[in-house]
Amino acid sequence: MLYKDLAELYKRLEKTTLKTLKTRLVAEFLREVDKPDILEIVPYLILGKVFPDWDERELGVGEKLLIRAVSMATGIEGSWIENSVKDTGDLGESVALALQKRRQKSFFGQPLTIKRVYTTFVKIAETQGAGSQDRKLKYLANIFMDATPEEGKYLARTILGQMRTGVAEGLLRDAIAQAFSVKVELVERAYMLTTDFGYVAKVAKFEGNEGLSKVEIQVGKPIKPMLAQMATNVRDALVEMGGEAEFEIKYDGARVQVHKDGDRIIIYSRRLENVTKSIPEVVERIKKHLKPEKVIVEGELVAIGEGGRPRPFQYVLRRFRRKYNIKEMIEKIPLELNLFDILYVDGENMIDTIFIERRKRLESVVNQGDGVKLAENIITKSPEEAEAFYRKALAMGHEGLMAKRLDATYEPGNRGKKWLKIKPTMENLDLVIIGAEWGEGRRAHVLSSFLLGAYDPEKGDFVPVGKVGSGFTDEDLIEFTKMLKPLIREEKGKEVKIEPKVVIEIAYQEIQKSPKYESGYALRFPRYVALREDKSPEDADTIERVAQLYELQERMKAGKG
Ligand code: ATP
Repeated sequence: MLYKDLAELYKRLEKTTLKTLKTRLVAEFLREVDKPDILEIVPYLILGKVFPDWDERELGVGEKLLIRAVSMATGIEGSWIENSVKDTGDLGESVALALQKRRQKSFFGQPLTIKRVYTTFVKIAETQGAGSQDRKLKYLANIFMDATPEEGKYLARTILGQMRTGVAEGLLRDAIAQAFSVKVELVERAYMLTTDFGYVAKVAKFEGNEGLSKVEIQVGKPIKPMLAQMATNVRDALVEMGGEAEFEIKYDGARVQVHKDGDRIIIYSRRLENVTKSIPEVVERIKKHLKPEKVIVEGELVAIGEGGRPRPFQYVLRRFRRKYNIKEMIEKIPLELNLFDILYVDGENMIDTIFIERRKRLESVVNQGDGVKLAENIITKSPEEAEAFYRKALAMGHEGLMAKRLDATYEPGNRGKKWLKIKPTMENLDLVIIGAEWGEGRRAHVLSSFLLGAYDPEKGDFVPVGKVGSGFTDEDLIEFTKMLKPLIREEKGKEVKIEPKVVIEIAYQEIQKSPKYESGYALRFPRYVALREDKSPEDADTIERVAQLYELQERMKAGKG
């Protein structure tokens, strides 16, 4: 199958904002793919990715290397391409222009196939060590040599992870269902269990509804985590749970999903990225303290400070990001794993088992010790007992409590009422940076105020809910400017529009109803708390969440909280 056809699909997707049309276009394309090995990779390419997020492989190609490769393939100066980006605002577009202008044309060129593009990407991702940049450069130049301008544009965007065709997971799921006339719920189920669209598309095409309904958890492939809603207080939570519940400490760390298959251990983060290599000591402890041969468990990884007290979750994220000097970090930021769920054990799928049974099973498979523990819990009907436990959790320095329904199955990817979280204040929001403003005077060279967006599923886009300028240190602003510069879509005077990629946690005094933004809500006194690298834009809070928090806040004000 030719890459040209995929480029044509990207182009059509870009031309419409209609979700139904986008879904149909993707479905039609998928239907045309007849080879299983191509169907396995195409869904990710459509999302603008090469590998699923949980795949450890990444291209590791930045703008500079990409420009050098295009320059090598076309004979056009890198500086020309760089300058052109100032006009086009998009490196993809500038790559297309360079390919149009090229002086060196490959005479023996072959039209690009999807397979060749993908194989080249794999080679690039697997190139490591000394001289790897040069080898990557050659691989890249090679495909750009044979690319048409339009193909070049989308190749560049894929390489940089900036596809902008408005295809997200939900749309892809619907398109797979449409393409192969299968039930959307079954596609969803299969995806939640395996998070592998390539595999799901293949099963949908070749095995239909029946195959999809038989899709099982696979050790090694992450499962979408079950999520919680917020409760106003412990008493409400208990009522919501039907009068009796399990309360667990809500640790302020980073969620992990641990897959153990004999000696092979994989640890996935909240975003289902593979973080195994950055925490080798945890891997060793898991090998010792998790008894079954094959098992999938979930827990919260917490950084431990003086006197065994928990440190804020950012410390754990510092461990996740580390590629070098890991030994030093093991000493600087010791970690503790608090396990709270079990999803699979030795051939047995546990997610349809009720929580209280899962917990028992979890207790039976963990040998506690060495920083591997079970999440501290109580099961109670008594609001007083639950409140006492809540106070204890806070006094120990934890975030609050989780309340869990005793009879709840594990619902992958669902944020329902079967898990509720209870925290002392109005909860912070995780919002996406969608715009920014250059500073003034001393801060003229840094972006210093940021427009915050919440996802609006109806519009299929992020809508603004506030602007934040406080809570940042000078270093933060420099870091943010570096991170956001490549994501700038448009510049007008001091204002810039930013590709929605970066999620930050925001505290605020209150949510107001306001005509100022099209969302109808505005945050009063927003303050930056932390960068949420553990969250992707799809995981950020939605406008529905903002509305819900607004209602909660009004209830609290009215004394009904
Ligand atoms: P948050 O920003 O509150 O961590 P979230 O969107 O990551 O929210 P929620 O479902 O809202 O997830 O809250 C549950 C989160 O709390 C889990 O993802 C996990 O990281 C964390 N957590 C801490 N302790 C527990 C526990 N005992 N059981 C389940 N989750 C826990």
